[in-house]
Amino acid sequence: MAKDPTRALRIEPGAKVSLKRWPTDDTFGWEKESAKAELEAVKQRLDVLQQRLAAEQRRSVLLVLQAMDAAGKDGTIRAILSGLNPAGFQVTSFKVPGGPEIDHDFLWRVHSDAPAHGRIGVFNRSHYEDVLVVRVKNLVPKSVWSRRYDHIVGFESLLADEGTTIVKCFLHVSNETQRQRLQARVDDPEKNWKFRAGDLDDRHLWPQFQAAYEHAIERTSTARAPWYIVPADRNWVRNLAVARILLHTLERIDPKLPPPDPSVTGRIVQ
Ligand code: AMP
Ligand code: MG
Repeated sequence: MAKDPTRALRIEPGAKVSLKRWPTDDTFGWEKESAKAELEAVKQRLDVLQQRLAAEQRRSVLLVLQAMDAAGKDGTIRAILSGLNPAGFQVTSFKVPGGPEIDHDFLWRVHSDAPAHGRIGVFNRSHYEDVLVVRVKNLVPKSVWSRRYDHIVGFESLLADEGTTIVKCFLHVSNETQRQRLQARVDDPEKNWKFRAGDLDDRHLWPQFQAAYEHAIERTSTARAPWYIVPADRNWVRNLAVARILLHTLERIDPKLPPPDPSVTGRIVQ
């Protein structure tokens, strides 16, 4: 495999982030057809490493997906996980908090859905909503949300200390791509169900959301839980990029099959 261009998407700790300067339509020189074939190859590797992770039963991986509406969080999950062993993965979609969630701290519901040892968890939205939509829409006072960045860094470092490797992807779409996709959700009966009138309110707050994302990424991209900014105007680029980032993460932790049990080695099964 040639040098992986997705490495360049990683935000180093302390780096400044200006989303306007990050392309949304990069292709890294990939071609659509060969990228689809490569996605299948990456998924086969993911399958092997997920099995080892399960066999090892000591560590886990958490992939966090954040994005503006219609950037393709659901599509990414479908593309990279379909065909893999469902028992090895868990997907959690975080919605507006309700019930007991609102009576607890913002990390309570998130912590309980962190992946157990041996598993790969994918968060479709996450605790980052609590410094994104919550900040942009003033759902809690600034004095509350502004303290959350440090809490997030501490929380993620706790997970890392206890065996969970975290990787976070911001799926970066252009304003025009979002407009087209939201329009398609209005026009296409098959897509109507994805459209909420509230999506337009969020769209009007585009600059505020971009600024909140920049700040969140700057404050929380750490060596142990890095952010990647993934160009997401083209679904096939986005899918392959996220799959490669996840694969790279698993390769780095290199899960190992447990050594054979000496009391079992060589036994004859009658
Ligand atoms: P969707 O992902 O399109 O199903 O929409 C879920 C909605 O829940 C989005 O509008 C999110 O901004 C919202 N949401 C998720 N987490 C939170 C949170 N902690 N506080 C407020 N809104 C949230
Ligand atoms: Mg939505």
